[in-house]
Amino acid sequence: MSNAVNTRAYALGAEPSGIRELFAYGLERKAEIGEDKVFDFSIGNPSIPAPEAVRQAMHELADTSAVALHGYPPAQGYMSTREAVAKNLRKRFDYPATADMVYMTCGAAASLEITLSAIASPGDEIMVIAPFFPEYRVFVGTPGCTLVEVPARESDFQIDAEAVATAITSKTRALIINTPNNPTGAVYTKETLEALASVLREKEQVFGNPIYLISDEPYRELAYGAQVSFIPHIYERTIICYSWSKSLSLPGERIGYIYVADKMENAQEVFTAVSGAGRALGFVCAPSLFQRVIERCIDVPTDVEAYRINREILSFGLKELGYTIVEPDGAFYLWVKALEPDACAFMERAKKYELLVVPSDGFGCKGWVRLSYCVSKETIQNSLPAFAALMKEYQ
Ligand code: PLP
Repeated sequence: MSNAVNTRAYALGAEPSGIRELFAYGLERKAEIGEDKVFDFSIGNPSIPAPEAVRQAMHELADTSAVALHGYPPAQGYMSTREAVAKNLRKRFDYPATADMVYMTCGAAASLEITLSAIASPGDEIMVIAPFFPEYRVFVGTPGCTLVEVPARESDFQIDAEAVATAITSKTRALIINTPNNPTGAVYTKETLEALASVLREKEQVFGNPIYLISDEPYRELAYGAQVSFIPHIYERTIICYSWSKSLSLPGERIGYIYVADKMENAQEVFTAVSGAGRALGFVCAPSLFQRVIERCIDVPTDVEAYRINREILSFGLKELGYTIVEPDGAFYLWVKALEPDACAFMERAKKYELLVVPSDGFGCKGWVRLSYCVSKETIQNSLPAFAALMKEYQ
C-alpha cells in the first residue's frame, strides 16, 4: 500500500538520532564492562538534582485541591504563573515585560515549534548559525520552511554578521540564535548581537518584511562569568523561547515559556498567532503542576558550581594533552577539534578508549566533536588518561 502514512513523519520516526544511538551504545557498554569504565559525554541531561525548593513546592502542592491542581489551566498558562515570569524578567533585565506576552509551554522544543508555526508560512526561510542544535531542522520543517545555515566565525564561534547579511533574502522570516550555545559553549557578546541587530534592521528596510529574532534560551542561566545579554534590549522584534530543563534540572517535566517582546510593534498580533499555533499543534496547555512549581521557584538561582568545576578540569586537562578546544563561556558543552578531518571516524576511534563523543556533522559543521560535561566529576577525572591514549594514536 503506498502513502499509508505521512512521508515526512515516517522519515523522522525512522531516522536514527546519532546522539541517542551513542547514548544507547554507552548504556550497553556500561552493562558489559561496568559504569565507571565508560566515559559517556554524549547527552545533555543535567547531572545535578533539581533544587530543594522544587521538592518542597511539589510537597506543598500535593496537599492542595486535586481538582484545581490537575485541571486544565488556561491555554496560555495560569495568569499567576505568567505574572511571576513577567515580574522576574522586569526585575532582572529592567525591561517592561508584561504577563500578557508570556505563553507557558512544554519546554523549549515546544516553544520553538509554536513560535515558528506562529510567524512563518510554507516556503519561508529560517536562518540558523552553524553549528546548531540538530532538532532545529525538524522544527523548521513543521511549518514547511527551509533551513538556511550560516557558519559562525571559526575563530571564536561568534555570529558572523556579514555572512548573515549576505544570506538574507526576501524570503527570510526569522533567525534562530542560541546563547549560551549548544554545542560550542559560546556566549554571544553585546557587540556581536548589536552588529547582528543592525543587519536585521537594515534588511527589514531593504525587503520590506519583518525579520524575527528567535532567541532559544534553555542555557541562559548557565554562564561562567560572561554577560548573557537580554536580547529584547538589542533587537525589538525578538521572541524568547525559554525552558527550565537545564536551569532547574527539570527536562522531564516539560516546562518553559515563550515571551514576545513587549516593545515589538506587532507584539499583540504575534502573541495571538502564538496562541493559535499552540492550539493547532495540540499543545493545549503546559503541565499544571509544574506551572505552579515554577511560580513558587522562579527566583531560585541556578547552581552552576558543579558544571564550573567540570568545565575547568576538562578544558584544562584536554589543553594540557594538546587538544584544541573552544573555551566555553556557558552551557555545559565543550567543543573540541577532532584529531582527523572526519569527525565520525574520530568518534569511532575514541570509542576504542570507551570515550563517547558526538561528531559535529549533525550540528552542521565538520571536524569537531561535542562533549557534554554534565556528568560526574569522577567521570571527567578518570577520562583524562583515555584522552591521553587517544591523542597518542595520532602522534
Ligand atoms: N534548544 C537547545 C539549544 C537545546 O540544547 C535543547 C535541549 O537540549 C532544547 C532547545 C530543547 O529543550 P527542552 O528540553 O526544554 O525542550
